[in-house]
Amino acid sequence: MKTVEQHIRDVLDLVEPLEPIELDLLRAHGGVLAEPVTSAVSLPQFDNSSMDGYAVNADDLAGASSDTPVRLPVVADIPAGDVSPTAVRPGHCARIMTGAPLPRGADAVVPVEWTDGGQATVAVDRPVRRGNAIRRAGEDVEKGSTVLQRGARLGAGELAVLAAVGRASAPVHPRPRVVVLSTGAELVEPGSPIGPGQIWESNSYMLTAAALEAGCAAYRRGFVGDDPATVLETIEDALVEADIVLTTGGVSMGAYDVVKEVLSRLGTVRFDKVAMQPGMPQGAGTVGESATPILTLPGNPVSSYVSFQLFVRPALRRLRGLPPDPLPVVHARLTAPVPHSPRGRRSYLRAVLEYDSGGGSTAYTAQPATRQGSHQLSALADTNALVVVPEAVTELPEGSVVEVLQLPAHP
Ligand code: AMP
Ligand code: MG
Repeated sequence: MKTVEQHIRDVLDLVEPLEPIELDLLRAHGGVLAEPVTSAVSLPQFDNSSMDGYAVNADDLAGASSDTPVRLPVVADIPAGDVSPTAVRPGHCARIMTGAPLPRGADAVVPVEWTDGGQATVAVDRPVRRGNAIRRAGEDVEKGSTVLQRGARLGAGELAVLAAVGRASAPVHPRPRVVVLSTGAELVEPGSPIGPGQIWESNSYMLTAAALEAGCAAYRRGFVGDDPATVLETIEDALVEADIVLTTGGVSMGAYDVVKEVLSRLGTVRFDKVAMQPGMPQGAGTVGESATPILTLPGNPVSSYVSFQLFVRPALRRLRGLPPDPLPVVHARLTAPVPHSPRGRRSYLRAVLEYDSGGGSTAYTAQPATRQGSHQLSALADTNALVVVPEAVTELPEGSVVEVLQLPAHP
């Protein structure tokens, strides 16, 4: 049997970051920046007002108070976007709106709240500091500076930065296209009537959603039966739109383990037993002319889920141009014992991880789900972590401090 670490390495050897392409901003959303972005301009590009008010010379208002307001003639009205060359001489002012260019001669903006709001003349009831309510050119971004680093994930904030410096597109590693296919003669589409011996198909929904949550473009191919020719044909069909293919089912030791059967013939996919529970049977390799990576996950729903978290997730990260980090680890105290764990295999137990503010040095608790069978998927609904039970450990008392893998929060 192979170790979990070895299988992670083998899977990662199959993938490399997707070729960068230049994408329009909203298409680039969720992509990973392939080069740093520098700004060709300063932001703001010109001195402007941060408030609705009046552009003045601060010296003119030195003696202003509520008893003795200073009255100034208003010589211009400057809305945002105004380009007329306005100047404010001493003793005068201009009405100005937020974001409008500061007129020449003015050195402060008085907010409208400090005035009577006059249009021909305005009374100001207090002095103003020089520079008040003025946004200076370059105080946000200096021309030529790097505004986004290579490797940045383009979310809402990053798109705002790109747009604000005038970029309509960005060079990104695009979202990987993940195609998900399940196999099994017993599978039926949810919503359809079910016959004896059949089950509603769930793995492909789970994996497609997990791939979407991991920042990929994911496509559910649905499921096929256990006919070798159909399975191979469907996999080959899927390659046109896939950067990586995920299959579930048909990889263990059964007589109808069709994925293993058809892919073994190609000789480019390796099937191994990995020393873990759930999820022992795993396959990884490439298919088709472009040597598209394919990961064949076991059919038991929990095995498939854990396989995604351990092996698929880092592979998807590498395809995205991110470091292939594993899930973050925290230490937690078990709130229930683990009565048995198989010797020689690492167990991953679904658990609910909680922050315990009174917990001292181990601030987390982990409550393992009571139903841990690889077919018992009901606990997936609340699971937010996986408790790791090492290969050599066969049981753990309540209160043991264990390693816990934190699953990402739902989007
Ligand atoms: P297999 O790996 O194909 O031998 O399947 C192992 C177990 O997982 C069997 O009980 C299957 O019925 C079940 N299973 C396989 N594929 C799926 C699926 N897509 N959705 C739900 N259960 C599945
Ligand atoms: Mg099967």
